[in-house]
Amino acid sequence: MIPIERKFPKLLPACLFGSYVGGVMMNKKWTIEEIREYVKKNSTSELLSTEYKGFSQKLQFKCSCGNLFEKTFTKFKGSNQKSCTECAPIKPSR
Ligand SMILES: [Zn+2]
Repeated sequence: MIPIERKFPKLLPACLFGSYVGGVMMNKKWTIEEIREYVKKNSTSELLSTEYKGFSQKLQFKCSCGNLFEKTFTKFKGSNQKSCTECAPIKPSR
């Protein structure tokens, strides 16, 4: 029998192991910094929120026209709603 210490060396930091398991089990976890970068690079809006708790949370953005708007990051990223409703009206689907 292989001693359990051989299979799971104690050298492996628990935090590293945890993040590895987390990365495999879940989709990419965005941090507020990563979102801010994404917003900066992919839109003319600016991220105002300083906390990100999950994809269902609404984040505050500032449109290039000065309007403030709220949107979940999922919508912002996935539905091409990267500015306020005045600059980019949500087209009703036919
Ligand atoms: Zn706007």
